[in-house]
Amino acid sequence: MSPERVKLSRDMIASDFVKMVNEISGQNVMNCYQCGRCSSGCPLTFAMKLLPSELIRLVQLGLEKEALETNTPWVCASCLTCHSRCPRGVDLAKVMEALRKIMLRPGISNRVELKDIPKETLAKLPQQGIVSGLRKLSG
Ligand code: SF4
Ligand code: SF4
Repeated sequence: MSPERVKLSRDMIASDFVKMVNEISGQNVMNCYQCGRCSSGCPLTFAMKLLPSELIRLVQLGLEKEALETNTPWVCASCLTCHSRCPRGVDLAKVMEALRKIMLRPGISNRVELKDIPKETLAKLPQQGIVSGLRKLSG
């Protein structure tokens, strides 16, 4: 994210975006108090543009555009390490899933189309991998 100053408002924090993430994920992102334990245990931070704790902070602040343009939810493997380490019981994997769902809703294209995967590649992939990958990456 750019280092520009962000002007926060009560409306941003109580925005439809924050409510939607909470509703889809079944979590309350406001429970996070930014201890960073999720990020220090996540095995995939090397590939993430924003740490899991940074991303949940953006969501708390209602910064929808910034939260949705990072690759973090797509890199997350739903391994639940963060959830097991969170002292506030936040299931970040569910928050990541909610963000993916919001991005895959109409008007935002799928990350992967089955028809675009070459037949030779499909033949080599395990079926479970294909199904779980498509569930994660398409609406
Ligand atoms: S569930 Fe996702 S964010 Fe949490 S530790 Fe695993 S890969 Fe990282
Ligand atoms: S471990 Fe939980 S409380 Fe700590 S930063 Fe991560 S989500 Fe927030």
